[in-house]
Amino acid sequence: MGNLLEVHSLQTVFQRDKKDLVTVRDVSFHVKKGETLAIVGESGSGKSVTSLSILGLLAKNGRVAKGDIHFDGQDLMKLSPKNKRLLRGKEISMIFQEPMSSLNPVYTIGNQLLEPIKLHLGLRGKKARDYAVLMLKKVGISRAEAILDEYPSALSGGMLQRVMIAIALSCNPKLLIADEPTTALDVTIQAQILNLLKNLKQEYEAGIILITHDMNVVAEMADRVIVMYAGEVVESTDVYSLFDRPKHPYTKGLMECIPHLHSSSKTRLKSIKGNVPPIDKLPEGCSFSNRCPYAMEQCKIQPQLREYTTGHQVRCWLLDDQEYVQEGSLENG
Ligand code: SF4
Ligand code: MG
Repeated sequence: MGNLLEVHSLQTVFQRDKKDLVTVRDVSFHVKKGETLAIVGESGSGKSVTSLSILGLLAKNGRVAKGDIHFDGQDLMKLSPKNKRLLRGKEISMIFQEPMSSLNPVYTIGNQLLEPIKLHLGLRGKKARDYAVLMLKKVGISRAEAILDEYPSALSGGMLQRVMIAIALSCNPKLLIADEPTTALDVTIQAQILNLLKNLKQEYEAGIILITHDMNVVAEMADRVIVMYAGEVVESTDVYSLFDRPKHPYTKGLMECIPHLHSSSKTRLKSIKGNVPPIDKLPEGCSFSNRCPYAMEQCKIQPQLREYTTGHQVRCWLLDDQEYVQEGSLENG
């Protein structure tokens, strides 16, 4: 099947103090119809900037400096701002972490849900309202009629996120970009929302880009995964290989941070020491070298993203070490 979205060698820069800061570097990936690609990494790794670059929604001081973005046969880099706006909300929809910040507090849920339905589907009056009710029911809101006349402040976080999903899906988008869609919600609601996304993916055959820092969400939802660190892809593979044979030390670190359901409460959760460095203070060579337990002399030279096996790419010098590659780890500390 052809690719719905193809991103090739994306480079996004932000201007600060008259200097260009390269925030996303040489990022490539694709998404097929009916497939979920997870973009995973800690905050500051460039996940959100990558998705905002695709959508043309970067802050004023940001721009895509290099790269190609093709969506459903269209070159997004050549699309006028007006056509991009039409594409967003109709063919590409988004859900963000904070539904409250995406909904306007002074308009009712009905106003905000009906707007894209009128604009993109051309429905009017009772037809538009019936369609809005149908969408709210699809996302599991039973008292849909009543909610149309309520304001966002009257609803819980989980309910608002459902409304956002209803808005995002109301035009039957080909691609849904969900940026930490469940981070602000409690665990029960989180599971419900993830289930909802899964069902909707099957029903609509949409492609999904799911941005998250939570490996449990990745395991639950993704078909393929790219792991980002300091604005670069450090590992890219299908979800099974990622959990069975993670290769990049950063990916392994993320895995060790996953709380296991059955582990005793005494087992301390590991976390990766330190933070993602600011983009203008990256260490020389490999960006992860100041936190990596395997760092060596060679790591002062920037490693390239290379094929480990078909469809599994890794950016790390350890790939040259046969023992590491076969055993999956070198005992360290
Ligand atoms: Fe660690 Fe070196 Fe690999 Fe970077 S290249 S992740 S520093 S071993
Ligand atoms: Mg983010």
